[in-house]
Amino acid sequence: MKSFRTRFAPSPTGRLHLGHALAAKVAHDLARKNGGEFLLRHEDIDGSRIREAYYAGIEEDLRWLGIDWDEEPLRQTDRLPAYAQALKSLQDQGFVYPCFCTRRDIQNEIATMASAPQGPEGPLYPGTCRAIDPLEAQRKIQAGQPHAWRLTANQAAKQSGPLTFTDLRFGKIQVDPLLLGDVVLARKDIGSAYHLAVVVDDAFQKITHVTRGEDLLPSTHVHRILQSILKLPEPQYLHHQLVLDETGKRLAKRNDALSLATLRENGATPESILQKIQLSSAI
Ligand code: GLU
Repeated sequence: MKSFRTRFAPSPTGRLHLGHALAAKVAHDLARKNGGEFLLRHEDIDGSRIREAYYAGIEEDLRWLGIDWDEEPLRQTDRLPAYAQALKSLQDQGFVYPCFCTRRDIQNEIATMASAPQGPEGPLYPGTCRAIDPLEAQRKIQAGQPHAWRLTANQAAKQSGPLTFTDLRFGKIQVDPLLLGDVVLARKDIGSAYHLAVVVDDAFQKITHVTRGEDLLPSTHVHRILQSILKLPEPQYLHHQLVLDETGKRLAKRNDALSLATLRENGATPESILQKIQLSSAI
């Protein structure tokens, strides 16, 4: 195994678009330039929107772009026991608490607060269930009440002490442990969630350089805390610029006209795609 490893981690909820082409290319080229390995991971734990045909579609889009990967692609749905084990470790250490709130409960709670805690993208979870007595929480769980598990961010920060991460574009960044507040680490329905799965898998796949869009920069603060309390290695990071649509908004799967498959049908070549995404100015 090479000592330089990157990955691309799309969700099979649609075909790849220009934004994914950039993300894949950044990770692929960084690995290849450094004589390293590039891995593919299907982030497929959000079951409701996953379609079997998209796994193959993603792989076809990548091959068409000239992007090849090492090893069998990882599917997060095959990794649920590993996430459960990590969650158990966090439970045993007292760094998570069960949250019984519905989306509506959270909105109502925020509406009644004079100053709800704010994150980079709006109000954070106001901490309602953090105050529930552990015995009472246990009783609710035993009674079968659906619950998520949330990070007790301030407790975890106390344990991990001051942390930093290194980004190849932004340099050294001080971790702000409360930036995203008490994030969900295990959803009610699937027993895991993005933040937990991604740190567990980056360690499992021995990723040395995590590359992804700069919209995920705030998440890295949470990931460093999780790596610290789960005793996982610290990768380096590269948060690249995003490809924006003509209105300046981040591309989403609903921008169907910009899917690689559609562009290709309309005559685009891999070269014209690479030109469009302006790789060199994104990093
Ligand atoms: N699945 C995420 C995305 O498509 C990538 C997550 C990551 O790279 O950590 O934006």
